[in-house]
Amino acid sequence: MSGGYRFARFELVPTRGPLVFRAQCEVCEEMGPRAETGDAAMMWVVFHREDHPDHTAYRELSSTPYRTEPRT
Ligand SMILES: [Zn+2]
Repeated sequence: MSGGYRFARFELVPTRGPLVFRAQCEVCEEMGPRAETGDAAMMWVVFHREDHPDHTAYRELSSTPYRTEPRT
């Protein structure tokens, strides 16, 4: 996790909220639904691969919540 990002007019500060996980197909870039755990997110691959047997590369994405704060 980053310590944050500074821009000219505000800062982006990571919050203590939970991470969000998603699975993404590397072939067509379609993404599965948001999930609370990586295990739950990656279940989407089972269904996606059934529909697209030639899509064999996937990625587990986890995202950190941020909020903006004015720069002082
Ligand atoms: Zn795909």
